[in-house]
Amino acid sequence: MRETLVLNASFEPLATVTSRRAVVLVLQDKAVVEQAHPRLRVRASAVELPLPRVIRLCRYVRVPFRRQAPWSRRGVLVRDRHRCAYCGRRATTVDHLVPRSRGGGDTWLNTVAACAADNHRKADRTPEQAGMTLLSKPFEPTPADALLLALGAGRQDELPLGEPLLP
Ligand SMILES: [Zn+2]
Repeated sequence: MRETLVLNASFEPLATVTSRRAVVLVLQDKAVVEQAHPRLRVRASAVELPLPRVIRLCRYVRVPFRRQAPWSRRGVLVRDRHRCAYCGRRATTVDHLVPRSRGGGDTWLNTVAACAADNHRKADRTPEQAGMTLLSKPFEPTPADALLLALGAGRQDELPLGEPLLP
């Protein structure tokens, strides 16, 4: 099932929903399409329209608390654009700066994308102990980062966002 990014009326990213739910929101005049898939179309009721990738709510929705994107391996790879933090080549694994065996956690700030070779080389050590330098520091994705990642990401299911906020 494809996912659609939902923006608040203020253009702030809120959540992802299934494309089916996104189409329903548009047909109910609750949202407008901001960006649609160039080729894919979706049929709903008696109309056919381009599959929405990003929709924006017509009415501002007050978000009761600021949501943090939940950590995931896939989210780390997307945040780092599948680039190894040590050599810049394509990354397929997630490295824990402080290894899990030493108490390092699954958090945005303790994990970076890494190629399999560097991950293997670093092994059960911190970057300092392994004599390896980080090309960039890990960061906590903000909602704005999530939007940029979403627009740049080829696959909507790579969004580092949690479950829908919408009813
Ligand atoms: Zn590498």
